[in-house]
Amino acid sequence: MANSFDLTNLLRENIRKLIPYSSARDEFKGEASVLLDANENAYGSPLERNYNRYPDPLQQQLKLKLSKIKGVPARNIFLGNGSDEAIDILYRAFCRPGIDNVLLVPPTYGMYEVSAHINDVAIKKVNLTADFQLDLEGIAETIDANTRMIFLCSPNNPTGNSLHREDVETILANFGGLVVIDEAYINYSRQKTFIQELTEYSNLVVLQTLSKAWGLAGLRLGMAFASEEIIEVFNKIKPPYNINQATQELALKALDNVETVNAWIREAVAERERLSEVLRQMKFVVHVYPSDANFILVKTVEPRHLYTYLVEKSIIIRDRSKVELCAGCLRITVGTPEENSLLVEALAHYHPEN
Ligand SMILES: *Cc1c(COP(=O)(O)O)cnc(C)c1O
Repeated sequence: MANSFDLTNLLRENIRKLIPYSSARDEFKGEASVLLDANENAYGSPLERNYNRYPDPLQQQLKLKLSKIKGVPARNIFLGNGSDEAIDILYRAFCRPGIDNVLLVPPTYGMYEVSAHINDVAIKKVNLTADFQLDLEGIAETIDANTRMIFLCSPNNPTGNSLHREDVETILANFGGLVVIDEAYINYSRQKTFIQELTEYSNLVVLQTLSKAWGLAGLRLGMAFASEEIIEVFNKIKPPYNINQATQELALKALDNVETVNAWIREAVAERERLSEVLRQMKFVVHVYPSDANFILVKTVEPRHLYTYLVEKSIIIRDRSKVELCAGCLRITVGTPEENSLLVEALAHYHPEN
């Protein structure tokens, strides 16, 4: 691997040549009193709040606020209808269907693979090591001339751990395609984010989301941080109004509450540690993996039996026992202290079949 990153080369020809859709909001951006340019309904909306006007296609106000919170210039931010939109756009911009491939490092988030299939892009897999870290040699051997992207998730879902920073840096420095680091759980982590490294690595794309720590999964707002050139590619491809007006307004309001969110994060981390400790004492627990996220991966003697037992108690966790390297494993999201105590209480009365 030698980093010979060249964005223009990496971009699909149809995208390089693309003339993007030009909306009414693109053509006229100033203030005006009579707007007769977008075929909107000038009467208003049959709601208390008006949504009759198209929203800002580039979400400038929202990006400015995020820019202050994240310490990244607004021009380095793309906002998507969830992180999933950013993932899909990356495939459509950089991977030629039926020709190119991407590298995934299972066990990891399932959407990278689904999005590859949707876009008819081949997948190469190099499993994480037994301690869920990157197999750098395996990755170097597997990459070929058509490998366009590597997806890394840190903290990783479903394992919960962060990837070693030096390993990620090695890949960033040596891989000639895009390195996508999914930091959906970064707020719960001891590790530093990579969003401050955008000037260092032109091939870096960092994904974050308002769906987890910010408690806004229902709004669908994902963020991608990258060089200005990569952000321009995102903006060229995205549907003109991908973030609706209600989401933009509600997210702006939510972002005023950093203190509340930070208090939730501190409590969730404390609860994660409490829950991990309690789980370690339980006889049917084989291993509790260390977590940097808001969930815990637990290896148990009879995962399906325990899963079903909890469903009967109206407690739903995730059975990950069929996933690569996760035999016997269940994934438990950290809830409120009350919810976690209900879980602990239920587990105290649990007995394996054999
Ligand atoms: C939950 C999660 C996301 C969030 O996706 P959204 O589309 O932004 O809700 C992204 N990546 C990982 C690894 C996740 O677990």
